[in-house]
Amino acid sequence: MAGFKVAIDGPAGSGKSTISKMIAKELGMTHVDTGAMYRAVTLLAIERRINLNDESQYDFLETIQISYHDDQIYVDNRIVEDDIRSKEVTENVSLVSSFPYVRKKMVDIQKNLSTSGDIIMDGRDIGTVVIPNADLKIFLVADVVERAKRRQLEKHKKGFKVDLEKLVEEITTRDHKDSSRAESPLRKADDAIIVDTTNLTVNQSVKKIIELIQSAKGAINE
Ligand code: C5P
Repeated sequence: MAGFKVAIDGPAGSGKSTISKMIAKELGMTHVDTGAMYRAVTLLAIERRINLNDESQYDFLETIQISYHDDQIYVDNRIVEDDIRSKEVTENVSLVSSFPYVRKKMVDIQKNLSTSGDIIMDGRDIGTVVIPNADLKIFLVADVVERAKRRQLEKHKKGFKVDLEKLVEEITTRDHKDSSRAESPLRKADDAIIVDTTNLTVNQSVKKIIELIQSAKGAINE
């Protein structure tokens, strides 16, 4: 069965993964966090001490298996969820994800995952490149200071103190790199619906997108 496909794109820290995960749970869909895949490649590149600027050195991806199941990212059989959220990975992931070779490898995996069942996939190029025929496309945005505050709160909960201004800077830099790269830049698909979460709680955002999903499903069944 083809299944119902939802593509969620948007800038860093707009809540894509948190919200997608909750929607998937509530509606019994499969969630795929594609940012986690680019983060996993970045982690491996750092661990292998390759020259991060040299695209040809990413050919380790020929022998390593990056997979995603049960809402979890695996490198061969290793779970890397905690390691991929480090500062070093976050600072380098936009560079790593700008290489066409890396993108081709990840997009192939993502396209494969998108073919079976009901899927909600979040990232930067899901509506434009990975699932251009998605049944519903959302472009999730939020004011940058609000996004930085959310990140700060997340970090606080984990016991880390981070300066708000630094977070605003980090997010702005990453957004700029992601939207200005030549290969599949962060961009709203023409047929995507913009959802601004600046003044919404996570639960309100989830509710709003579930309503959009129900109405898109209704339109298909009419
Ligand atoms: O979603 P998250 O912030 O974890 O993504 C980390 C990085 O991975 C992004 O800043 C971007 O450079 C890259 N990415 C991408 N394409 C996607 C998902 C993420 O280039 N579909």
